[in-house]
Amino acid sequence: MVLGLPDTIQACLFDLDGVLTDTASVHRAAWAAVFDPVLAAHGQKPFSDDDYNEYVDGKPRLDGVRDYLASRGLHPPEGSDDDPEDAETVRAIAARKNAEVLRRIREEGVRVYPGSRRYLEAAMDAGLRRVVVSSSANTEEVLRVTGLDELIEHRVDGVTIEKQGLAGKPAPDSFLAGARLAGTEPAHAAVFEDATAGVEAGHRGGFGYVVGVNRIDQAHARALAEHGAHVVVDDLADLL
Ligand SMILES: [Mg+2]
Repeated sequence: MVLGLPDTIQACLFDLDGVLTDTASVHRAAWAAVFDPVLAAHGQKPFSDDDYNEYVDGKPRLDGVRDYLASRGLHPPEGSDDDPEDAETVRAIAARKNAEVLRRIREEGVRVYPGSRRYLEAAMDAGLRRVVVSSSANTEEVLRVTGLDELIEHRVDGVTIEKQGLAGKPAPDSFLAGARLAGTEPAHAAVFEDATAGVEAGHRGGFGYVVGVNRIDQAHARALAEHGAHVVVDDLADLL
């Protein structure tokens, strides 16, 4: 074992929000701010942490809107990027959520988990390939403002996923694209994920090792294991 990984592993594929950066909570709060008025207009209870973990976390933004509202029996029209800002369409709701996240990130900054930065440095010293695979369209900006871009070699993000027409997590496509960029077979790559959708993507892609990163509670740790994590840790430093 090197850095808590089997010796066959040559590349590390890291999710961003909740694995490297403490931004999953920012996304959760932004979703709540955008979903709650929509839910209230239909006489429904507010968006909860469990809703976020089960239907939204780790997925591309548009899939998050569709999957979550469908779970509440709501099926708004797809709409377009030209919709009025306050429209009740999938596109307009997704656009409001992105604006809300960007506002929060710019006002509050982004915190990198210290254990994750140390792990990335150790992976670089060990000669492992390092790729970020995130559904977030804001990945490039977050990597730059945190300085993580100096520790990361390649990126597959929300922009890549849309441009290349990849299926989002829980489909394995974005992680498979990450392994290709690293020049590695999936069997020789490790996936690091905090969302059940992402762990499931790692499992379905046949990756050599799937690390579940649990930032929530014991129930979430169990859910990560049930979705296919080989190991579940509270922090990447636990692997050092
Ligand atoms: Mg995540």
